[in-house]
Amino acid sequence: MTNRILSGMRPTGRLQLGNYVGALKNWVHLQDEYDCFFMIADWHALTSNYADPGDMRRNMRAVLLDWLASGIDPERSTIFVQSLVKEHAELNLLLGMFTPLAWLERCPTYKDQITQLANKEIETHGFLGYPVLMAADIILYRANFVPVGEDQLPHLEIAREIARRVNFFHGGPIETGTNLPTRPIFPEPEPLLSAIPRLAGLDGRKMSKSYDNAIYLDDTAETVQTKARSMMTDPARVRRTDPGNPDICPVFSYHKLFSSPEIVAEVDRDCRTAAIGCIDCKKLLANSLNTLLDPMRERRAVLENDTPRLTEILEAGNARAREEAERTMGVLRERLSLPASARDAVNAS
Ligand code: SF4
Repeated sequence: MTNRILSGMRPTGRLQLGNYVGALKNWVHLQDEYDCFFMIADWHALTSNYADPGDMRRNMRAVLLDWLASGIDPERSTIFVQSLVKEHAELNLLLGMFTPLAWLERCPTYKDQITQLANKEIETHGFLGYPVLMAADIILYRANFVPVGEDQLPHLEIAREIARRVNFFHGGPIETGTNLPTRPIFPEPEPLLSAIPRLAGLDGRKMSKSYDNAIYLDDTAETVQTKARSMMTDPARVRRTDPGNPDICPVFSYHKLFSSPEIVAEVDRDCRTAAIGCIDCKKLLANSLNTLLDPMRERRAVLENDTPRLTEILEAGNARAREEAERTMGVLRERLSLPASARDAVNAS
């Protein structure tokens, strides 16, 4: 049986190159090997943005288009909206019963985020319980693997611990009254670790919406050229004749991720001897970026005004997700002695 993967993104706006190299590119390849479930994580966005969710629906459309443009294929992968599969909320609630508070309080990312997001009031039940919701997302689909970077490992470890704890209490014989060995209700999800490249902003600072220093997947070819031209370079390279140091230049860090090995080698060599100027080097980069983005633009052009097709994709994805979610919840409700109907509730024999 093909192993299953669950991954998701918050719909907080248009996606940029950092999202592409950090996740999407990997997702596109994972489709060849795994049964992929990709979730637009709108409830997750609310854990920190509950006071100002922004234009979540517009963002969802943007994220969906970016995914499809990047090569996420709805014929092979299940694309769905978290809040439209209500079982996420039900499982979140049930897993919360099993989760000791200390597991959440000691999670290193929780403490980090509280400090980083000091301008938001996030000392809430929802924010503390974020790893439980994440566990519910994964467990609901009985995902075997979750693509993560090192920094997300603590969250995944909590999901594994929660799955183990539920299995410990309620994993049982396949049929009551038989001596068959016990079996888990859910698989413990494994990390699918990948080195996630961190892409700096065009100005060398952290990529951030508030700094307006990113290239977006839906930027036009001209915008990409303009943005590439404005990029920071090696600050010590003042004149055209000064040799540069590509190792400290943001333009070169982009070349390493988006240009061919030949161009990377050429820039690496010619920058150090001042055989290439920064203007030409940035033109090369803009070409590489547009080579990547052009096929995405073509796919986007077909879909961006086709609301019926986008709706159809999400409806099919939501239906498939619900079917799997319902299957998991059916087993769990039964193990927890919860009724499936009114008749079930009163028919104790
Ligand atoms: S030539 Fe390219 S790598 Fe070298 S400093 Fe200029 S922009 Fe950076």
